[in-house]
Amino acid sequence: MNVHDSERLRGLLEDAGYVRAPEGDEADVVVFNTCAVRENADNKLYGNLGHLAPVKARKPGMQIAVGGCLAQKDKASITRKAPWVDVVFGTHNIGSLPVLLERARVEQESQVEILESLDVFPSTLPTRRESPYSAWVSVSVGCNNTCTFCIVPALRGREKDRRPGEILAEVEALAAEGVLEVTLLGQNVNSYGVEFGDRYAFSKLLRACGSVDGLERVRFTSPHPRDFTADVIEAMAETPNVMHSLHMPLQSGSDAVLKAMRRSYRRDRYLKIIEDVRAAMPDAAITTDIIVGFPGETEADFQGTLDVVREARFAGAFTFQYSKRPGTPAESMENQVPREVVQERYERLVALQDDMAWAENKQLVGQSVEVLVAEGEGRKDASTRRLSGRARDNRLVHFAVPEGVETPRPGDLATVEVTYAAPHHLVADTFGNLRRTRAGDAWARTQDEPTTSPGVMLGMPTLGAKPLEPTTGGCQIG
Ligand code: SF4
Repeated sequence: MNVHDSERLRGLLEDAGYVRAPEGDEADVVVFNTCAVRENADNKLYGNLGHLAPVKARKPGMQIAVGGCLAQKDKASITRKAPWVDVVFGTHNIGSLPVLLERARVEQESQVEILESLDVFPSTLPTRRESPYSAWVSVSVGCNNTCTFCIVPALRGREKDRRPGEILAEVEALAAEGVLEVTLLGQNVNSYGVEFGDRYAFSKLLRACGSVDGLERVRFTSPHPRDFTADVIEAMAETPNVMHSLHMPLQSGSDAVLKAMRRSYRRDRYLKIIEDVRAAMPDAAITTDIIVGFPGETEADFQGTLDVVREARFAGAFTFQYSKRPGTPAESMENQVPREVVQERYERLVALQDDMAWAENKQLVGQSVEVLVAEGEGRKDASTRRLSGRARDNRLVHFAVPEGVETPRPGDLATVEVTYAAPHHLVADTFGNLRRTRAGDAWARTQDEPTTSPGVMLGMPTLGAKPLEPTTGGCQIG
């Protein structure tokens, strides 16, 4: 959600005339898009702001803006703690950023603007997308649930659904530009439609995506077990371009802990959804989120989580050690689990999950998979002389390209045979064929675009970098 918001911030600023600062240069404007879900978000923010204070002191006209969830939560206390911040804006009014920067510049005074509800649906804002072949598309923002560990409802507000026609128009426009993969995005995609009274709206949307010309892959995040209905499974199974990958947060395998988390499903319901998904799509890769050490979690509760991990055979899991999030109900729960107990459970969980994922991945050795070539997915690609991308089930695949084969571009589709499985990725050293796509063409075009232009600039600064050369006018931003 935040990554997509950052694409909007970039789009807004470029629309207002700013351009990205070149790598390594100090920017004229620095925008922090904060995430309060992350641990230590406030320490990281104030640490970064502290580093920037001397930069700003020696760079007249530089501006610093702070937005996102932490800004929504801390409001004017940000400018009290860091008076050199020029603009604070919240999650509901990201569209105000250019105006607030301008006002702060003209009035020479910090501007703090936080709205308590959504101004305009953010998808109507200009967006500069990071990838020419894969795009986020929001279906909703906000969440009507009240999970006790989560700050999202307090900061993003109640669920707002976008009309299906608007979503499809955006998907079609993206596909027309060459995008071949979209990820439908919402805090709880399964409750999509609650605002306009259609509980089957999400499955209808998936099916409608199935007839968008040129769109080859449709994914979504995040579903919620409470609202997951059979029609969504049917739509996934019957719509050819909907990927057989499901990231469905479990959080805990103990009913008592789920209750304390105020997650309104129970372990049996969760496992039944997985059983139904596998019955309809035997090749589905199911991944999850799990929190270890939620307040009150006993060893028996934790064993319940391990049992579900064994039974569900997750292809991957984001595992988290519970830690307090300021402003959440769980923060003040009395029965917090000692750190060392959480750590020890966490290690057992990760070891089991790795074993399970490895066993699942090994079953793919010898199979052909279609890989959407990606940029930046394989850190060791240069040394292993492989390329990387995602299979249709979203598994990470590193693959070798034989000499004499044209080098695939990000956005192209390669068919390869899996030759080795690791817990977190697959290796495919047998190459099948390459399909050059319009998405690959779109990526190639971005390589021809100039990375910088004179005048106003946009991008993250490098702290301590050499002072910026004078520019041809305007200001620089990042
Ligand atoms: S479903 Fe729960 S965890 Fe997810 S955003 Fe809503 S409140 Fe947070």
